[in-house]
Parts: sequence; C-alpha cells; structure tokens
Amino acid sequence: MSKIIENGMLITASETFKADILIDDSGCISAIGHNLDAPGAERIDATGKLILPGGVDPHTHFDLPMFGTVSSDDHYTGHKAAAFGGTTTVIDFVNQDHDSLKKCVDAWHKKADDKAAIDFSFHMNIVKFDESVAKQIPDLLEEGITTLKIFTAYNGVLRIDDNKIFKVLRVAAENGVLTLLHAENGDVIETLVEEALAEGHTSSEWHALSRPAWGAGDAILRVAGMAHAADASLYIVHMNTAIGVDMLKYSREQGVKIMGETCPQYLFFTLDNMRQPDGAKWICSPPMRDKSDNERIWQAIERGEMQTIGTDHCPFFYDGTTPIEYEGEMIAIPGKELGVDDFTKTPNGLPAVGDRLLVMWTEGVVKGRISANEFVAMNCTNPAKIFGMYPRKGALLPGSDADIVIWDPQRKVKYGVAHSHQRTDYNLFEGWELMGYPEKVFLRGKLIVDGDKWLGERGSGEFIKRKEGEVL
Ligand SMILES: [Zn+2]
Repeated sequence: MSKIIENGMLITASETFKADILIDDSGCISAIGHNLDAPGAERIDATGKLILPGGVDPHTHFDLPMFGTVSSDDHYTGHKAAAFGGTTTVIDFVNQDHDSLKKCVDAWHKKADDKAAIDFSFHMNIVKFDESVAKQIPDLLEEGITTLKIFTAYNGVLRIDDNKIFKVLRVAAENGVLTLLHAENGDVIETLVEEALAEGHTSSEWHALSRPAWGAGDAILRVAGMAHAADASLYIVHMNTAIGVDMLKYSREQGVKIMGETCPQYLFFTLDNMRQPDGAKWICSPPMRDKSDNERIWQAIERGEMQTIGTDHCPFFYDGTTPIEYEGEMIAIPGKELGVDDFTKTPNGLPAVGDRLLVMWTEGVVKGRISANEFVAMNCTNPAKIFGMYPRKGALLPGSDADIVIWDPQRKVKYGVAHSHQRTDYNLFEGWELMGYPEKVFLRGKLIVDGDKWLGERGSGEFIKRKEGEVL
C-alpha cells in the first residue's frame, strides 16, 4: 500500500521546506510536493514534525571477534539499535582472514544476511597484501564493495608496511576504489605499551597514554602524501585529534583527494573519563584525547572541514559477568572486565550506533553549532555520496529509497541505557538531556520503529551493492 507523509518540514543537506511525500508500493519515494494524492494511500500526519532521510552510518563492527570475546551487538541487535536512533543504513568491516577475499566477504554475509534488520553494506579490511590480493581487488567491485581499509597501527596484526600501503593505494586508484585509513603510529605504540606494562601501569588511562596524539598527525600526513603520489582518494576514519584535523585540512588545501570522519565520542570525552574508576567504558582505538582536541574537531565540523560523522560502533559489556535482559532473554557476553588487571586485554570499542543522531542533534543543531541541513549532510547524505549509495540512500528525492525519519523536535528525553537499544549494559551518554527524537522510522517505506515500538524484522535488511563514490 502506498503512503503519504503529509504536512512535515523536510530537511535535506541543502534545503528546508514544507511538503508531502508519496511512497509507492515498491518502497521508493515517488513524489514530493503539495496536495499529493494516490487512491487508497495511507495518510500519516507529520504536522509540527521534521522529515529527515534515514541516517547512514559508514562505520560499524557487529559480531566482531576480539580478545577472546565478541562485540556484543550482532547484525540484528545492532541494526535494531541503529533504527531506534534514526539510522537505516550501516556499513560494516569484513575481516581479511582468508587468502580469498571472496571467501572473507561470504563469511561476513553468513553472519549478517539472515539477521539484517536495516540495509547494510561492507568495507574490506586489507591486513595482508601481495600480488594475489591485488589481483582480487577488481572482484570486490562485483560484490558491491568499493572500499578498502588499511591500518598504520596494530603492528603484526592489522598493519601493513608503507610500501604495501602505497601499492594498495595504486590498485585502489586504478579500480575507482576508496581507501579508508586507521591513522596512528604503530611503532611508537608498540614501544610505549611494552614500557607501560613493564613499569606496572595497567589501568585504563594507559591505553590512551601509550597511543600519542601525534601518531594520528604523522600517519595522516604520511599516507596523504602516498595518496597524492598514487592519485588515490583517501578517507580518514574516526578522527580524534586536533593535529589530525589540521593535517586533513592541510592535505585538502594541497589538492589531495582526502576526506575525514569523526565520531560523537571524540567530541565530548577526554582522558579524564578514562581515569575514572569505570574508565574501561571509554577504551577504544584511537583513544579519547583532550578538551582542545574536542574543540578543534567541533570547529572542523562547524567549518565544513570534515565530511562525515560515523560511530565506530563496537560495543562490549562493561560487566560481562552480569546478564541483562534483551528481548525477554537474559544475556551476558564477556566484555571490559577482561582487562581489569591489564588495559591491553580490555576489548577496544564502545556503543554508539543508536546514539549518533540523537546526541548530534541536541549538541550540534539545538545548541546552534551546525544547521539542521549540515546535520543531514554529515550524518546521511555525505556518507551515502562518498560510499557510492547516493541518491538511493541519504536523500529525500523521487526515486530514493523511502528511508525516512519523522523527527519530533520537541521531544525531551533523559537519555541512557534504558532508552538506547544497544545490546550492552552501559551508555556513554547516561543522563544526558536530549531535545529532539525520532518518532517514526521507515525502511524502504516500511514502518520499522513507531515511537518505542519495534516493528522491524530479522532478515529484512538488504545488502546494498555500492558503486564508486564521490570525493567531497
Ligand atoms: Zn572501526
């Protein structure tokens, strides 16, 4: 049955205007205008509400094995949490743990396809690189994967050396593939971690102290230089430092095709949070930094120096020995307690996929740092463009998927773990007063979140085969 959402105020990346939206049987937007009619259409009144395109989160880690446990949201629970927060598309990272990239991708499909409750796609991690891997990169395009991720940290595990990074960038450029970079200095970290442990520094703050902020700056500049030489495009994930932002800006000014993503956690939290008794909640890589870093990243968002906001959602229980109730069942998954005596054993990651739009609306739009249009650009439209899903995703246009959020700008919520649907026992934004909240969320025209009610289904999310993206 077709639907008409009427009397809402549409917010796109560039415009704000009052209009009705007609959604056809196939789940696409078929018209935007005034006095729309379709015989038998269900009418949904959105008077006083805002209409946003569904959020696109370009950075999640569901069901990711780490340190003998696994991230506590899988491709169902994480999708559900995303939807409650107004996000309708996510891109997850495929582990390269097989010689055949196709087999790695198939393994991730096996984890995700039957569980997916919103639309999704994959990035391919490249942690081993040789001629054989290079030859398989074009095959990824047929799988709908147009992005690779490389690391300058995690020596001996995920990092490939600079010579190989340069070769990856060249192969990527030849195939119209975008390379994502995790930017830290793996050599410095390796030494500082060894020293910290030898000196008995095992508490959570040492996770950050052993990963200096300058490592992000030097890695971004170094790989930007390689991207320039390879004529490749580059995207810096989870930017957490002022120096990194400065290097991004510098590289863009020099004409490097480089873009940046930050995450909500890097705008609000610092090393001080990691010094608290529950500091392990904030352990993720790269780590929390200082107030001045928070402020510089905000400035980059305000000035349009950074292109997207993702989450790097990779949740773990704070206390994985105490079960929580999830969909009527008691569940506990080993988590942050694994590192109680040694920060290097604490699983790296935190929950955020459901929090992103809620927190960024209150802190960004309500507090006047960014416009509602800039909010939509960074959280919905730009990720869809950069990752080759636009205008199917991230847009309110005839022909786009009807991934739509009816947003109530007046709803006030004292937020926290009781509201978020992330499958973990804590929330970083516990007790925060939020203003503005999703009222209804549609995925390809189907209502999947109605207030506090979940109407989505396992297996109903579609894998989005992506095309070559845009450099913004
Ligand atoms: Zn990540």
